[in-house]
Amino acid sequence: MAEQVRVVVMQAGLGPLDYAMPAGQSLEAGQAVLVPLGPRQIMGVVWDGLEGPAFTGKGLRAVAGVLPLPLVPEPLRRLCDWVADYYLASLAGVLRMVLPSVAALGERQIVEYRLSGTQPPRLTPERSKALAALEGRAGTVRDLARAADVSEAVIRGLVNVGVLAAETVPAGQLPAPPDPDFAPPALEPAQADAARALTEAVAAGGFAPFLLEGVTGSGKTEVYAEAIAAALRAGGQALVLLPEIALTAAFTARLAARFGSPPVAWHSDLKTSERRAAYAAIADGRARLVVGARSALFLPFKDLRLTIVDEAHETSFKQEDGVHYHARDVAVMRAQFEGATVVLASATPAIETRVQAERGTYRHLLLPARFGGAAMPDISAVDLRKTPPVRGRWIAPPLAAAISETLARGEQVLLFLNRRGYAPLTLCRACGEKINCPNCTAWMVEHRLTRRLACHHCGHEMTVPPACPSCGEPDTLVACGPGVERIAEEVAATWGAARIALVTSDTITSPARAAALVAAVEGREIDILIGTQLVTKGFHFPELTLVGVIDADLGLSGGDLRASERTFAQIAQVAGRAGRSAKPGRVLLQTHQPEARLMQALIHGDAAAFYAHETATRRDLTLPPFGRLAALIVSSEKEPEARAAAQALAEAAPARTGLQVLGPAPAPLAMLRGRHRFRLLVTARRTVPLSAILRDWLVRVPLGNSVRVVVDVDPYSF
Ligand code: ADP
Ligand code: ZN
Repeated sequence: MAEQVRVVVMQAGLGPLDYAMPAGQSLEAGQAVLVPLGPRQIMGVVWDGLEGPAFTGKGLRAVAGVLPLPLVPEPLRRLCDWVADYYLASLAGVLRMVLPSVAALGERQIVEYRLSGTQPPRLTPERSKALAALEGRAGTVRDLARAADVSEAVIRGLVNVGVLAAETVPAGQLPAPPDPDFAPPALEPAQADAARALTEAVAAGGFAPFLLEGVTGSGKTEVYAEAIAAALRAGGQALVLLPEIALTAAFTARLAARFGSPPVAWHSDLKTSERRAAYAAIADGRARLVVGARSALFLPFKDLRLTIVDEAHETSFKQEDGVHYHARDVAVMRAQFEGATVVLASATPAIETRVQAERGTYRHLLLPARFGGAAMPDISAVDLRKTPPVRGRWIAPPLAAAISETLARGEQVLLFLNRRGYAPLTLCRACGEKINCPNCTAWMVEHRLTRRLACHHCGHEMTVPPACPSCGEPDTLVACGPGVERIAEEVAATWGAARIALVTSDTITSPARAAALVAAVEGREIDILIGTQLVTKGFHFPELTLVGVIDADLGLSGGDLRASERTFAQIAQVAGRAGRSAKPGRVLLQTHQPEARLMQALIHGDAAAFYAHETATRRDLTLPPFGRLAALIVSSEKEPEARAAAQALAEAAPARTGLQVLGPAPAPLAMLRGRHRFRLLVTARRTVPLSAILRDWLVRVPLGNSVRVVVDVDPYSF
């Protein structure tokens, strides 16, 4: 019966609903529509392939209107179905990622504002903050409020007093189409072999997943750029996913040099007008090459022939709010539904990815050496037990000597410590009280740049109290342990003439900031980079020859399944920033356990031995990818209700061979944003239909009103 359609309505908790076709119209699957729901109209998308009998009763209401949005194409609809099923999400929740900020997309006319030069009659702190942040920026009220981190009311107030003036926005301009033959480099033999395998797969069409493994500096980008060229020649579109939007500017410049025109960017930092233009061009196929964050996976590409997941091992591809999904896996599934090529590129592929390559599910391409004959860096340990730094300092003598030598040669240094802020812990010398976040089981982290204490989990901030909040003694609070800001202080005290750049998510807040940093480092305006995991990614600085890892043991304490894998990848990646060009690189790892397997593998460049051991451990314990894993986080603002709900779930756990439920236990973050959290872990054999079992289990157990259950399939932090 074609007179009625099934619509996924964009409302949490509601399943798909049936509606009559609007008079005289026939609607296709994928069409965005407005439908009546009670007294209101809400948005939805016409969907196909959903089970369940059609509504046959009386009083079927009609679709109220058709929205002027591109169709959600068939392969993307099937991807949405898969994501909803596999990750136990609602289709409406998944569709919210497909139709981002719908209000903005549907708006007729976009009005942007920028500073007019008029001074405000009255300057509040919020207004000063906005004025400082909006210098040189234009955007809608919402864009500007976000950019300045103030409320929309503050922005509207500034519009009212004429400090912000409206301007007309020209229809979103797209860059010229990329030219596949603009400036192809001459490839080295290993690069050429890998590139040929990729271009053949792209030209042939059909689902073709690849692992492109190449040591740091081996020229993976040049290789997959050939695959992009093949997709362009075939008339299709290509998407490159990056783990960090801050890095898009440098990367965009590189692709622009290769293809004669920049790619279209997709990330949360776009203005409304840019977002709308990009969305339309991706849907109608004019945007041929797109670079984006993981959210780009849900865009309605017209003809997606190729997806590259760059730095595919990065944990930031795992989304941990809203729909919990892993972009690496979703990219592979999308390629499967599109019948397209997908390339996971990494120097340190995840064990999940390695095992797929070993099983032959993914084709494995290898670049074993650095480009242009550059040597791999020389990695050695600094044994902190034998040569500790002096008290209150964190750089041990051997690393300090290496820094001095490197600076004397006029070369650049990178110091890595994966900890934002000044000190991870503030403690009272008198009573031992640690300053905790009021909303989370977490210490408040001191940030000296902003002179505040901040919770890295919920964002709660406060000024450093003048007296201990517990015993009331004044001036007893001391900073314990180092963060990058403290390392910067030590460096400034020791190498006063050196020019320092701090590279963390606090300082590199936008692609523009990242581009400025890259320019400063390349222009030799920086001598020492000090950074968190942000510096491990993708940078190529020819004059950088020394990398110092302040605390190589840091990541190992967490004790979760991926702690050592993640630490290995992180150190290998940061080490890979050293000596990428003519000058040889050197890496010093400060550690208390130089004899540990992980340190030895890094020092001897024996990644194979490390991964073989890690993989064997996972296999023995039937952990992913040899078994399935899901975490259920049961939370409530009321501790007893969360506990009782978790207990009730455990008691109703499905009894099934090959499936085991562990817990409940307090979650590693027992309180987060004011909610008490308990965790159940589900392990299962690979053959067990885990999603169906979980879904069935969750609907059987009634939970209190205050209780929320979040299911994390293939969890990362649990
Ligand atoms: P990876 O991503 O594998 O770490 P990159 O792709 O950043 O390595 O390449 C390292 C450096 O070598 C870059 O500066 C890149 O431009 C250069 N390079 C790689 N392959 C070629 C090539 N075939 N011709 C010229 N330069 C190349
Ligand atoms: Zn907090």
